Amino acid sequence: RSWAESKLSTELLKAVERAGYKKPSPIQMAAIPLGLQQRDVIGIAETGSGKTAAFVLPMLTYISRLPPMSEDNEAEGPYAVVMAPTRELAQQIEDETVKFAHYLGIKVVSIVGGQSIEEQGFRIRQGCEVVIATPGRLLDCLERRYAVLNQCNYVVLDEADRMIDMGFEPQVVDTVAKNLDRAGYRVTTLHGGKSQEQREISLEGFRTKRYN
Ligand code: AMP
Repeated sequence: RSWAESKLSTELLKAVERAGYKKPSPIQMAAIPLGLQQRDVIGIAETGSGKTAAFVLPMLTYISRLPPMSEDNEAEGPYAVVMAPTRELAQQIEDETVKFAHYLGIKVVSIVGGQSIEEQGFRIRQGCEVVIATPGRLLDCLERRYAVLNQCNYVVLDEADRMIDMGFEPQVVDTVAKNLDRAGYRVTTLHGGKSQEQREISLEGFRTKRYN
């Protein structure tokens, strides 16, 4: 299988080539076509499988079809939000997203604990299409009105099972229920560790269909 068959835009294919990704990994081959068809997706894959790009590339495709963020709408917040259980994972997702987003002029801001929340809110309000966040910090930012999610239609819960294990379920549920309830595109990934098939994704308000 090749990238050429993936139906990604020419621009993104170029970005993938520049990243040096010779061919799509199995999770990418499975998940990217579903993401491009704008279906909700639950993906299960281990770290190192290329699962980040598997949700990042369809997300960037979705964003590239929207008007570029400008003074007209940047105050309404990002077009897409990715939540992840740890700062380290959020950082890795940011690195992987920027690798491609850079070539499309798409701006990415990450908001995690341990850094100034005022500064992070300021960076979001300056205009960015994608926010990558740990759940506690995102909710804090929203509750203080440092950021809003008035035009976010694309939500990714990366390693949702680990977010539940780490006790973030209330923050994720609250953020989705209050700010993202109407988001049309929903991607959940499960860290492919122990008993993955038994993991029940019980995030209320984040009902998502399962496609194999
Ligand atoms: P992940 O599983 O998303 O953490 O990705 C693991 C590593 O594989 C990251 O460093 C990616 O940059 C890299 N990667 C992702 N997809 C591909 C691919 N199709 N070909 C080569 N490397 C890749």
